[in-house]
Amino acid sequence: MKQGFSLCVYCGSRTGAGAQFAEAAAAVGTWIGAHGAQLVYGGGNNGLMGVMANAALAAGGRVVGVIPHALVEKEWAKLDCTELHVVDNMHERKRMMAERADAFLALPGGIGTFEEFFEVWTWRQLGYHDKPVGLLNLDGYYDSLLAFLQSSVDHGFMNDWQMDLVRVGGDVQALLQDLAEAARLAPRQTDLSEI
Ligand code: AMP
Repeated sequence: MKQGFSLCVYCGSRTGAGAQFAEAAAAVGTWIGAHGAQLVYGGGNNGLMGVMANAALAAGGRVVGVIPHALVEKEWAKLDCTELHVVDNMHERKRMMAERADAFLALPGGIGTFEEFFEVWTWRQLGYHDKPVGLLNLDGYYDSLLAFLQSSVDHGFMNDWQMDLVRVGGDVQALLQDLAEAARLAPRQTDLSEI
């Protein structure tokens, strides 16, 4: 694994219905701490975000939170992150998160998670970065999204190679290992200055 592997995770600001989602978020945080890795995330304290960040800190991992000041004012920031960056707006936040990461992973979540996942995927297909992008399809949560995306390929609006840019898995440990290995091999010709 790359020394000091830095993983940007997008996930729900809610915990979802069922304990399995929080368990998976905690497992991601624990894996990060256990592997001397770094978590980059949205800096929030609630939902899967808070569960994951707490688990990473408890396991000795570095946690970098990046949050717009408007959300800090709503008292949603996790103030005990290893580094907490308060930025001007959402665009600056997403750029900094992307720049600080070696790979991206979306866990189950809602529209905020979807938006971040699709954005980083489109940046990859446009060549703004070459970092691996993963999707944790825990308990089949993303089955219907993946079916819709395949339908988009079938209808001629996407190509297989675009689908192949996303590494999909249902097992937390296996997907994290896969992303870490892919990040180690990535050519790293990243330029996010124009996003
Ligand atoms: P959602 O999937 O709609 O729950 O939104 C989660 C994503 O949106 C996270 O990855 C964050 O970047 C952002 N987000 C949503 N709510 C918050 C919050 N309360 N504090 C910080 N970031 C948030």
